[in-house]
Amino acid sequence: MMQSIMIDSHCHLADPKFSSDLSEVIGRALASGIDRFVSIADTLEEGDKCLELAENYDQIFCTMGVHPHAASTWDTEVGKSKIVEASQNPKMVAVGEVGLDYHYMNSPKEDQIRAFRDQIQIAKALDLPLVVHNRESIEDLLDIIRELEPPSLVLHCNTEKWEDCSELIDRGYLFGFTGIATYPKSEDIRNTIKECPIEQMMIETDAPYLSPEGYRGKRCEPAFVIEVAQLIAGIKQVSLEEVDRITTENTVKFYGL
Ligand SMILES: [Zn+2]
Ligand SMILES: [Zn+2]
Repeated sequence: MMQSIMIDSHCHLADPKFSSDLSEVIGRALASGIDRFVSIADTLEEGDKCLELAENYDQIFCTMGVHPHAASTWDTEVGKSKIVEASQNPKMVAVGEVGLDYHYMNSPKEDQIRAFRDQIQIAKALDLPLVVHNRESIEDLLDIIRELEPPSLVLHCNTEKWEDCSELIDRGYLFGFTGIATYPKSEDIRNTIKECPIEQMMIETDAPYLSPEGYRGKRCEPAFVIEVAQLIAGIKQVSLEEVDRITTENTVKFYGL
């Protein structure tokens, strides 16, 4: 049987949790059929580290942007020039991760909204897709997206109920799903997977966080992306190869890999 080829569409390979053994982590992922990785930035500093990884590994692509947790550090001029500069590098494929997180509220709401809006405008000007984070903030998130209408985005690690997020699918955007969907209590996420067309899905690990069921408590790594693909195949009643093929195609198209 031909081994399927997959992409981890969202992982944090510049996280310190990978600093001592990244090449082994990459090796294990390659051995399980994952051939490309999009390493996501949470801050501008992490974005620089992601760019460095992308220079060192053919299989790594990266993003630049400021996460809602760090939104209070966002300065429009500094952030904009950094993202514009990074976008000159062909391995930089999106702005992110950006968005809103009202669960932890690590940055005040107003700062989160300002950083999110600014980065949507920057992505639009550069014609780059956006990697969007959301937690307990879907209403404000939708309001901003309706108003600014970015041409291309993924709601990554989607945990929303289908009825609360389906508008994004109607608007032609994508959802990313992680190992959270494998947890016993994640009925709502599995229902969203059931309703969402595979043609608008990407698969991700969000490593080093969110290990799938069976690996909980351990560091998450890109090799586990297969667990998410298997779950989707089961829910959608299609073969794993089909899930791999379609989601890989979606990811290649979304990021322009
Ligand atoms: Zn996130
Ligand atoms: Zn992330």
